[in-house]
Amino acid sequence: MQAGEQRARVVVVGGGLAGLAAARKLVMAGHEVELLEARDVLGGKVSSWCDADGDWIESGLHVFFGAYDEIFTLMRDVGIYDNILWKQHVLRYTLAGGDHFDFENWPLPSPMHLLPTVFRNKYFSWPEKLTLARALPRIVLSSDDYYEQQDALTYEEWHLQQGISKKMLKKMFLPMALALKFVPPPEISARVVLDVAGIFLRENGASRMGFLSGSPQDTLIGPIAADLARRGVTIRTGAKARELILDAAGRVAGVRLANGDEARADAFVLALPVHQLNKLIPAEWKREHAYFANLAQFEGVPVITAQLWFDQQVTGIDNILFCPDGCIPVYADLGNTTPDYAVGGRSRIEAVVAPAKHLFDWDDKAIIDQVWRDIQSVFPRRTVGVKITKATVVRIPQSVYWPKPGLNRLRPGQHSPIPNLYIAGGYTRQRFYDSMEGAVASGNRAAAALLEDARTEKLATVGASFALSEE
Ligand SMILES: Cc1cc2nc3c(=O)[nH]c(=O)nc-3n(C[C@H](O)[C@H](O)[C@H](O)COP(=O)(O)OP(=O)(O)OC[C@H]3O[C@@H](n4cnc5c(N)ncnc54)[C@H](O)[C@@H]3O)c2cc1C
Repeated sequence: MQAGEQRARVVVVGGGLAGLAAARKLVMAGHEVELLEARDVLGGKVSSWCDADGDWIESGLHVFFGAYDEIFTLMRDVGIYDNILWKQHVLRYTLAGGDHFDFENWPLPSPMHLLPTVFRNKYFSWPEKLTLARALPRIVLSSDDYYEQQDALTYEEWHLQQGISKKMLKKMFLPMALALKFVPPPEISARVVLDVAGIFLRENGASRMGFLSGSPQDTLIGPIAADLARRGVTIRTGAKARELILDAAGRVAGVRLANGDEARADAFVLALPVHQLNKLIPAEWKREHAYFANLAQFEGVPVITAQLWFDQQVTGIDNILFCPDGCIPVYADLGNTTPDYAVGGRSRIEAVVAPAKHLFDWDDKAIIDQVWRDIQSVFPRRTVGVKITKATVVRIPQSVYWPKPGLNRLRPGQHSPIPNLYIAGGYTRQRFYDSMEGAVASGNRAAAALLEDARTEKLATVGASFALSEE
């Protein structure tokens, strides 16, 4: 802090990556930070916990992309970047019946890095590959304005307008859309798919994927929380925010918790899932500000994560796997990808089940049976005689937010219309929506907006004293 500046008190609500990142920036700038998390575990959608057997259960399968940036900086600062294990740069699509095809990136300047794989791919015919080749310049060379305009269309509409093969839609882009946002091409905005594809195509290395070396709690969330605690952040779990307390000027004076406690502060960062945030926003703010009214347009997508433990090795693959056939568009054998989970070479498959709407009310056994049938169908020979020793199911009714056409322009920035209130979360405006990178970037931006307001004295009238400095 700079001489003469006073230490401000900031409450961050929500202990996912967005809240953790915001808290770190603010405490590093010298301020008093309290972080409130409703659950007993931190990490939100990246949380993990031990079950009665001592096995880690994950909220969902998480991979890092080479294109990420701010989460890597955070991890380097905390000293945990090396917990990411980068895998061979290849996308493997596994198919019903046991066939597969790969897209392998070569160490050539972009976009030449894709040429060898296009030549070598035998699954799609040459006329099919040419339909994609003709559309590639649109994806690679178009401006952000072009991507933004495509937010009016679904990806399926865009794909067919470009004349790209239907087989590629079904076999390549369906699992990609489901892996990205858990919704299929007829429901996802074209902008989302094109933006991600553009980043991957323009930059060799952007689509490289990495896994944590162990549970998210041990290798990511726990170390970040320990770093925050060391720096003096007060972290309260089991602390559910129920209501905002407003002052006479209509600004936020405090947060009332479910147990009746109050957390008072000079400024607030709400790093919550939208449906939880909506419960805290007073009705008059929704009437007065489109910023808050627009939040009603964000619908959480249901997703299921299934984890299956096996008595022997099933896949033999140490990487992410895609599947266009069945209900598990993306999955991985954590027994191979994640050293802390390795048990004598036996497989432990974590699968994203999507679209999950129609499976959500099935009981766990029915879901596991379906996932197992899909695994058997893509590994017909390797699954003969294999037994499942344990299986778990995690359901998230509102996970990421459905990126339907037209939603993008409604995304909130991190600076709310209320002078001492900042909003963070993977769904807020930044580059990588609903991702770990996006969550960290949004937390950084919310903290930066708060610090900037303080520096320019826009917050000077709030609370008793308010003068913040940059890090
Ligand atoms: C199944 C799945 C797989 C995914 N895979 C990937 C992937 O491979 N790569 C990737 O980059 N991203 C992935 N993501 C996305 C990524 O996990 C999220 O975008 C990111 O973690 C969101 O972080 P957040 O902090 O914005 O929100 P959250 O993680 O939702 O955090 C919000 C926090 O607020 C807390 N909270 C809620 N209500 C209250 C309240 N009233 N008071 C106090 N606290 C409250 C919640 O408990 C939670 O801890 C995946 C998501 C899911 C669901």
